[in-house]
Amino acid sequence: MNEFKLHDGSLYWPKTMSFFPTYPSLRERAMTQVAIVGGGMTGAICAATLAEADIPAVLVEEKRVACASTAANTGLIQYSSDIMLSELADRIGEKDAVAFYAHSYKAVNDLSLLAAAIPQDGGYRARASLYCASETGDATKLRREYEMLRRHGFAADWGSPAGVGPGFKARYPEALVTHGDAELNPVRFAHGLIAQAARSGVRVFEHTSVTSMRRRGDWFVLTCDGGEILAHTVVRATGYLPGVDGAAGSEPLLRRTFALATRPDSVPSEWRPDLMMWETARPYFYFRTTPDGRIIAGGLDEAMRDSADGGWTLQARTDKLLAELGALFPGRSFEAEYAWSGAFGESPDDLPFIGEHPEMPGLFHALGYGGNGTVYAMLAASMLVARLRGEIHPLAGLLRPRQVANQGAKDKPAIRKA
Ligand SMILES: Cc1cc2nc3c(=O)[nH]c(=O)nc-3n(C[C@H](O)[C@H](O)[C@H](O)COP(=O)(O)OP(=O)(O)OC[C@H]3O[C@@H](n4cnc5c(N)ncnc54)[C@H](O)[C@@H]3O)c2cc1C
Repeated sequence: MNEFKLHDGSLYWPKTMSFFPTYPSLRERAMTQVAIVGGGMTGAICAATLAEADIPAVLVEEKRVACASTAANTGLIQYSSDIMLSELADRIGEKDAVAFYAHSYKAVNDLSLLAAAIPQDGGYRARASLYCASETGDATKLRREYEMLRRHGFAADWGSPAGVGPGFKARYPEALVTHGDAELNPVRFAHGLIAQAARSGVRVFEHTSVTSMRRRGDWFVLTCDGGEILAHTVVRATGYLPGVDGAAGSEPLLRRTFALATRPDSVPSEWRPDLMMWETARPYFYFRTTPDGRIIAGGLDEAMRDSADGGWTLQARTDKLLAELGALFPGRSFEAEYAWSGAFGESPDDLPFIGEHPEMPGLFHALGYGGNGTVYAMLAASMLVARLRGEIHPLAGLLRPRQVANQGAKDKPAIRKA
């Protein structure tokens, strides 16, 4: 079914697991209130949130838990989206844009509560983000962003802070710092959430692919290889892979992005490891650190290409990322112990697709396209629980699955307001 590789190269996060919990495959008929299709970060966050809300659920994963995009995720958790608050306000109006940012901010905090509720260390650490002006001309729009963030009560400071190193400051003299962000280890975090959900009663199945879905009265009937699930609500948490519903208008714009992890203990002493760095250029270069002193850097997004080129592209992009890093810390050279590429999906209007499909009541999309997939997964879980309780979430109209003209990532259309 899956025609493209979700990631390629050597991944870092799976190496941080001392063992991988396993789950059986479905070999029977299961009846439940909510069926979650997909055992990545999104499925994991939905499963844990449903378990906390005492809502019966089954999660099915066609391969292994957290082995798809989640394993390639670099784990930056930011309330700021790829589209600035000020740019989003120009497109959809300041009120809706601020509501979207406020709920993203809350989602980062909700993730911290989930992190605290699991016994494993999922690598969740509070962090600040250093958002740098890539070119002198970008400083004006970054300043406007800072002013809008402050006006609406988001914690942000202007200026490149002390303690980032003189080479870094010379390259990026203008920057804004946002507070309230975090980093995590996506594989440990997703596994921790799913194990916790399973302990709380969510039935989890691996190596179980949903091959078709149909309606029977109030029920969805999901056919899996080996079994069947009857559920009142189905959550599509299939990431960038084709869904189970065939609904048009929710496919991501796919690009390929690159990332690396340096050797341990290679963070320059002049860098503040509580900061995560990104920039205004698109695609952007970014980096964060890990508890064992590695730097995880990424960027260089490009059009999807055939990954069967003998690894040449990955090597060339890894060298380029290392050179970018080296230029920020003169006199230091970095080596990549792990380097990988991954498919990366964006929506044409920069907003995730979350909510019930208008033509298929009960089918809930949790498709967090964009650089903030983890924050959007948390938003999706909160919106799902609100929906199941019969409440109307303030973002329901804005994020519901919608037809957006696919004009390519560079030329995004204005969003049609609900
Ligand atoms: C290099 C890279 C860096 C990234 N960095 C960040 C970052 O810093 N911060 C961030 O928030 N996001 C980041 N992302 C995005 C992030 O990886 C994704 O948003 C997120 O992991 C998606 O999780 P998911 O659960 O939605 O998808 P996935 O992890 O892809 O999980 C979907 C699962 O659904 C399963 N599935 C699909 N179809 C079926 C079916 N029919 N039946 C059963 N199971 C099915 C798949 O096997 C898969 O395991 C990055 C992505 C890449 C590639």
